[in-house]
Amino acid sequence: MDFLPKPVDEYCSQYTTAENELLKQLNRDTHAHVLQPRMLSGHFQGRLLSMISHMIKPSYILEIGTYTGYSALCLAEGLAQNGKLITIDINPEQEERINRYAAAAGKSNQIQFIVGDAYNIIKTLPHSFDLIFIDADKPNYPKYYEQALEKLSPGGFILIDNVLWSGKVLDEQERDKDKDTKTLHALNAFIQQDNRVENILLPVRDGLMLVRKK
Ligand code: SAH
Ligand code: CA
Repeated sequence: MDFLPKPVDEYCSQYTTAENELLKQLNRDTHAHVLQPRMLSGHFQGRLLSMISHMIKPSYILEIGTYTGYSALCLAEGLAQNGKLITIDINPEQEERINRYAAAAGKSNQIQFIVGDAYNIIKTLPHSFDLIFIDADKPNYPKYYEQALEKLSPGGFILIDNVLWSGKVLDEQERDKDKDTKTLHALNAFIQQDNRVENILLPVRDGLMLVRKK
């Protein structure tokens, strides 16, 4: 679903810094060779992730849901010197591609890909994070949100993707009959009344919830 009229959407993309060649290549490569390429963040959201990361200059970033590594590369652009991004995906199939692109970006020693179920892996991570991007299986979003808050440095930020779920979260019937819609709407409502954080729901792409831990 497009939330913005197409010409406005196109104008916004046109006046947003272009993807670099490597990201363009990964974008094309994913569309040509990987199932469900719509999951990739893409040009506009990728530039927003990069911009937010540059504003925070995080020492540690955690990403839940790597896919082909597009958003990981964008987020890693803003890392502090010697900063690290850990990205987790349950699917081992993209490991070679992710590592190849991280190397091409000159970030092999800054981007660490871990294969496995995010919930179990996050528990084992030893340090806290300044920025956490939640973008994996929707039924587990509420669990990831709690884990992320625990692992977040004070004043740190969480970004949660797809919280508008193609606009279905607005539809009461969809909330009743579709489990993911129900979960995402309940999470939005939970965050809204959560005194531990401040939050802003950005109507970017499929909805991006930006959360700051107080
Ligand atoms: N962040 C990527 C897109 C991620 S798509 C981008 O913006 O380009 C969602 C990913 O979550 C998929 O690759 C899927 O394999 C992964 N995923 C699903 N369930 C998971 C789980 N339990 N633990 C970790 N990753 C999971
Ligand atoms: Ca997503």
